[in-house]
Amino acid sequence: MALKIYNTATRQIEEFKTNQPGVVKMYTCGPTVYHFAHIGNLRTYIMEDILEKSLTYLGYRVDRVMNITDVGHLSSDADTGEDKMLKGAKRENKTVMQIAEFYTNAFKKDCERLNIKWPETVVPATSCIDEYINLVQTLLDKGYGYIAGGNVYFDVSKLDEYYSLTNHKAEDMNVGVRDSVEADSNKKNQNDFVLWFTKSKFEDQELKWDSPWGIGYPGWHIECSGISLKYLGEYLDIHCGGVDNIFPHHTNEVAQSESYLGHKWCNYWFHTQHLNTELGKMSKSDGEFTTVDKLIEHGYSPLAYRMYCLQSHYRNPLVFSYERLDGAQSAYNKLVKKVQNLTAGANEQLNDQQIKVHQEKFANALSNDINTSLALTCVYDVLKDDELNSASKIYLIKDFDSVLGLGLFAETKKENNDQLVEYINQKIAERLNAKKEKDYALADSIRNELLEKGIVLKDTPNGTEFEIK
Ligand code: AMP
Ligand code: ZN
Repeated sequence: MALKIYNTATRQIEEFKTNQPGVVKMYTCGPTVYHFAHIGNLRTYIMEDILEKSLTYLGYRVDRVMNITDVGHLSSDADTGEDKMLKGAKRENKTVMQIAEFYTNAFKKDCERLNIKWPETVVPATSCIDEYINLVQTLLDKGYGYIAGGNVYFDVSKLDEYYSLTNHKAEDMNVGVRDSVEADSNKKNQNDFVLWFTKSKFEDQELKWDSPWGIGYPGWHIECSGISLKYLGEYLDIHCGGVDNIFPHHTNEVAQSESYLGHKWCNYWFHTQHLNTELGKMSKSDGEFTTVDKLIEHGYSPLAYRMYCLQSHYRNPLVFSYERLDGAQSAYNKLVKKVQNLTAGANEQLNDQQIKVHQEKFANALSNDINTSLALTCVYDVLKDDELNSASKIYLIKDFDSVLGLGLFAETKKENNDQLVEYINQKIAERLNAKKEKDYALADSIRNELLEKGIVLKDTPNGTEFEIK
């Protein structure tokens, strides 16, 4: 079945064609590991995981690479401000490498809890310094770069089409330079970007390497080009990230990779829209942000959040609130229960014909620009179909869950379960206390708060018991 997918580069839905038959070379921009990932970042990683699993479902072999940014990503994407990693290290009184290790592991744990498959090849940016130096040298030799104030810059005026990923005019595409960071006066053109830093106003940059241009460190954009070229070769099929990566990060990646290679580099660009709070984009610079740990603390299961993400299309912005998550949590609980209640008789034969029909519908939903809400509906259609016996239903839902990743058959992870039970018991104790104080309004609101998450309280002679619906 032909996959149709929206391509940011052409701004239209296209038929997906790979460079090599049956093989997809896929690159994902990974996290900057200076803090916990927020659930907005994780929306992007969930949708990229779905993309990889959809491609596999549709019969491709996926060679996927993701970087871990542990150097070079400054506070502003316009290459000004302090290195985010150094900021993290100062905040926690640790070294940059300790911070990188800690938050890489935290990210890995988040991925596990959200059923996000860890990509086959994950590469820390600090492991490919020689590759970046070679890239930067070639760009200088070819006349695309210049040295100013000690740094090496890419000269965007050397390209006929710098804004290939966007249809905006140059003046609209200047990255918001925040008040707190100074504009870089070394740049010949405002959107020139740093390939290699040797001079930064932050003298205490911890990680530095020798280079032909002096001791310094790579710019953020060169990392993704260097890693992708090293591990996936000169022709990339699909490159992914959140929409904020389109400019300047991905635009700069295209500029430097194609100038280096002398030919087109990547055919399809897949971008996930943002997760927003009611106040705007969820971001770490706001100070307050929601993490997977916070969701668990509030009594939600990470996979209910995954379901919440799947209920909307990756190209639509998604607004997050706990009230909205309640709906997903309760739908998730009901779905798990229905699926886990399926029991196949010993002699049940699979209904091969009907299975094919359902699989086709599911593959169609994925092929329709990764329509995850339609793909979810396919699970409900299986449950409702009277022509399918239980064995066939189990077979199909397992098959679909290899893409959806909702853990519909997996036993709830003990660790998550323990945390949920602890949360419910704490709420039961609070409610008991409210009743003792004759604060019945509070007692009722606690009961309702749990009910919204699908947790029903029952008062019995032995105390309060609960049931998860
Ligand atoms: P970072 O760790 O900041 O480099 O971001 C990791 C990924 O999360 C990138 O692909 C970003 O585009 C993406 N991202 C950042 N903020 C959001 C958000 N609010 N919603 C969805 N994705 C986001
Ligand atoms: Zn990147």
